[in-house]
Amino acid sequence: PLVLSIESSCDETAMAVTDSRGVVCASVVATQIDFHARFGGVVPEIASRKHTEAIVGVFEETLARAGAHFGVDTLVASDLAAVGVTAGPGLVGALVVGVAFAKGLCVGADLMLIAVQHLEGHLMANLFDTPDLRPPFVASLVSGGNTMLVHVRAWGDYQVLGTTIDDAVGEAFDKVAKALGLGYPGGPVISRLSAQGSPRAIRFPRAMLHSGDYSFSLSGLKTAVITYIEGENRAGRPINLPDLAASFEAAVIDVQVAKAVRAVEETGVSDFCVGGGVAANASLRAAYRGVFEKRGVRVTVPPFSACGDNAAMIGICALRSYNAGVFSPLTLDANPNAPLGAWTSPAAPVPP
Ligand code: ATP
Ligand code: MG
Ligand code: FE
Repeated sequence: PLVLSIESSCDETAMAVTDSRGVVCASVVATQIDFHARFGGVVPEIASRKHTEAIVGVFEETLARAGAHFGVDTLVASDLAAVGVTAGPGLVGALVVGVAFAKGLCVGADLMLIAVQHLEGHLMANLFDTPDLRPPFVASLVSGGNTMLVHVRAWGDYQVLGTTIDDAVGEAFDKVAKALGLGYPGGPVISRLSAQGSPRAIRFPRAMLHSGDYSFSLSGLKTAVITYIEGENRAGRPINLPDLAASFEAAVIDVQVAKAVRAVEETGVSDFCVGGGVAANASLRAAYRGVFEKRGVRVTVPPFSACGDNAAMIGICALRSYNAGVFSPLTLDANPNAPLGAWTSPAAPVPP
């Protein structure tokens, strides 16, 4: 049987088809970045409208690439057994587009419905390149909307050690890029610039570095960067963008790494992994490898292509639930605040 998975929690309309062994037969991502870029961030109302415009085309393209050249009317005869869909967290107006589409498919083609928690998808994306990843381990989930350290005690058994008390890491990248007029999203452009700059050029604050817990705070750093930009502008000095980017990145990374090291030591695990859009950041990956490899801790990251939002990662979660017989009723509602662990199936094995 095949599982179709749907992702529409933010500004990507994505679908994938996964077979029963976990092989991704097709994965399509339609991004709306161009429609949000001029606003310097995702505009929720635009996101939901673009999802409704894109979703049928993404569906047809995904089935075509999976080698399933049939229309909705012949789906009943197909090999599809279930539809997995991101039901939260995310933008509610964006989530409901995917959830409604999934429900419609399930009713129309007699398929089983499976709700998936978006951040669990980001976590599972580590399995694409590291299929032997096994709990217990510590995971850092860093994306546009979330920043958390998690002790993964078993698949589906998540102890959230700490989260951000204000902005997410990806959000900080986006807001700094916006302040510099570098467009949206900020992560890729800032990491490209930082490669040419010095991380020691400007001293930015490392918030909560010594707070003794696993909480993060990013909004003060964002303000410090903006204050610095304004100061340089007032003084008529040109801003060295690579130095600024590298120094900002270093401030973020120092705190992320220090807390990750503490979490790994306190839990006594020997595996650490990163998930979410910010996991694509090369300096962050290198910093983790630098501190953990000498401690004998294996560092796992998703493939670059699976760090940002995609449906293939949702497919892994959906397949786990499918194998465990964990399904959702057709009364399923999107939950914009769904916690990590919502809808999961602790008993389900990870697909081989
Ligand atoms: P969430 O997963 O919390 O719901 P989201 O789905 O909007 O939020 P993702 O798509 O997972 O977030 O990640 C997007 C974020 O990742 C953006 O904030 C973007 O700036 C950031 N990002 C992407 N590439 C990089 C990079 N190379 N370095 C740093 N940040 C990056
Ligand atoms: Mg996105
Ligand atoms: Fe995401």
